[in-house]
Amino acid sequence: MTALIIHGGAGARRERNYDAEIVHMRQVVEAMKVRLDEGDSALDVAVAAVVMLEDSGLYVAGKGASPNLAGAYELDASIMDGSTRRAGSVAALQGFRNPVAAARAVMEKTPHVMLVGEGAALFAHDQALDMIGDETAWFTGAGKGEDNHPPGTLSHGTVGACVLDAHGRLAAATSTAGVFGKMPGRVGDTPIPAAGTWADAGAAASCTGQGEYFIRVAAAAQVAWRVAAGQSLADATQAVIDEIGVMGGDGGLIALDAQGNIAAPFNSQGMKHAWLTPDGDIGVEVFRS
Ligand code: ASP
Repeated sequence: MTALIIHGGAGARRERNYDAEIVHMRQVVEAMKVRLDEGDSALDVAVAAVVMLEDSGLYVAGKGASPNLAGAYELDASIMDGSTRRAGSVAALQGFRNPVAAARAVMEKTPHVMLVGEGAALFAHDQALDMIGDETAWFTGAGKGEDNHPPGTLSHGTVGACVLDAHGRLAAATSTAGVFGKMPGRVGDTPIPAAGTWADAGAAASCTGQGEYFIRVAAAAQVAWRVAAGQSLADATQAVIDEIGVMGGDGGLIALDAQGNIAAPFNSQGMKHAWLTPDGDIGVEVFRS
């Protein structure tokens, strides 16, 4: 049994058309289904899905990133392997094409979980990860038009994936440029295991939304802890989004449990997401039908 769910951010606005993202998310899920059918690990598929999302330029992560208030592109990403509970993360990384690849390298090649800023960039360089030459030519600014994102409103966009492989292993990965109009050095939930990303033996989650709120409820880990305590995935994920809503935050999350159940609650207008069920069905949704 395999299953998968991906997201392209909860910053979706009803007035905007998402046809390109819908087509692309389906392509990502179809490509990852082939890999899962071939026996690839949840970890490899989570990274591959997020790399496709980062490289598309359609979401506010990787190529689609938007700059901070000082005009710098500071990107965050994290990954967690549910079967080993290893995690890796980078924050405020500049100059590299796939922050999720850097997060994986931190997990696999260092004794640490998180590297930030210049240290993260030096490490990514040592790992010979793909660099961005001309930033102006590379970044598409995918979030332009998502709304007018005035500074301070925490408008946002992110990508993520949760995967269950044929061996019953779960993994999650998330990547973002953060919220629009963010201060230099601002770090949200995305690169923080337990806040923006989590995977253990029972559940995996990847969050998107106003990260300041997701950090304060340990959103991704809280989903897994609720599942471990016996709650259904649907109830666990809804409870976390409700708690964020009560605090005044907006966003959503995707999650998957070891039985292949998927959930994708959000309290924002929309959340770009797509999934593969254990039965092999593929679905895509931005706004609730
Ligand atoms: N959660 C991300 C952050 O706060 C933004 C997003 O999901 O769109 O950095």
